[in-house]
Amino acid sequence: MAQLLLEIVTPDKLVLSHSVDYVGAPGLLGEFGILPNHIPFLSALGIGSLMYKMSGKNHFVFVSGGFAEVSGNKVTVLAEVAEKPEDIDVERARKAQERAKARLDKAQENIDFARAQAALQRSILRMKVRDAA
Ligand code: ATP
Repeated sequence: MAQLLLEIVTPDKLVLSHSVDYVGAPGLLGEFGILPNHIPFLSALGIGSLMYKMSGKNHFVFVSGGFAEVSGNKVTVLAEVAEKPEDIDVERARKAQERAKARLDKAQENIDFARAQAALQRSILRMKVRDAA
């Protein structure tokens, strides 16, 4: 059966390159799923877990920002940030969550609400990806 070549790249490195059976990703406008022989497609990425299915098993990668492009059975993810579960520092994510919550608790003061909310979302979703592994 046809497969997809999934490549996840950040500005720093190639995070992974695998032949997979399915890719699901957090598009900016909602989740999307890609099977082999998909039509060409381009989407901006939001924050969340990218899922790929390989050898009958589901795998997860935390992604935040960037783009995903599908062309000729290749899915290229150019992510601002991408972390495999084993690369996620849980303690760092927990501290980031505490900081974001403390800022949001002071919402009446002059804080960047959207920035604190995005930081909170990143920390929660990092821990979710780590837990799913
Ligand atoms: P922090 O406040 O801890 O920096 P953040 O959500 O603001 O968290 P990002 O802007 O998403 O961080 O990422 C900046 C860089 O730090 C990226 O290279 C990202 O992979 C890395 N990074 C951030 N948090 C973690 C984590 N918990 N585990 C591993 N790498 C992380």
